[in-house]
Amino acid sequence: MHVEIFQNSRAREIEEEFMAWRRRHPGGKLLNFRPAGTFMIHRSTCGHFEGGTTEKFANERKVCSESEADLRAWADLEGVEIVPCGSCMPGSD
Ligand SMILES: [Zn+2]
Repeated sequence: MHVEIFQNSRAREIEEEFMAWRRRHPGGKLLNFRPAGTFMIHRSTCGHFEGGTTEKFANERKVCSESEADLRAWADLEGVEIVPCGSCMPGSD
């Protein structure tokens, strides 16, 4: 299982690392923490991560992987629920 997690108070650096990961992994998927306690799964290319402010992205934990199966394995280990993004529909390919 291989996942990369982006989050913390170094907002600007983490933001840059997260955006760099998206560019390196255009076919990847990611989980984005939501206040409700669930993670929403997106394609790395999802428009939800374009054009926002730095801090907004970095303050919400991102779990990224080339493999959706690895993300689901991670979520099972953490005991968290995954909900699909309605915009990029990661389960549809
Ligand atoms: Zn999305």
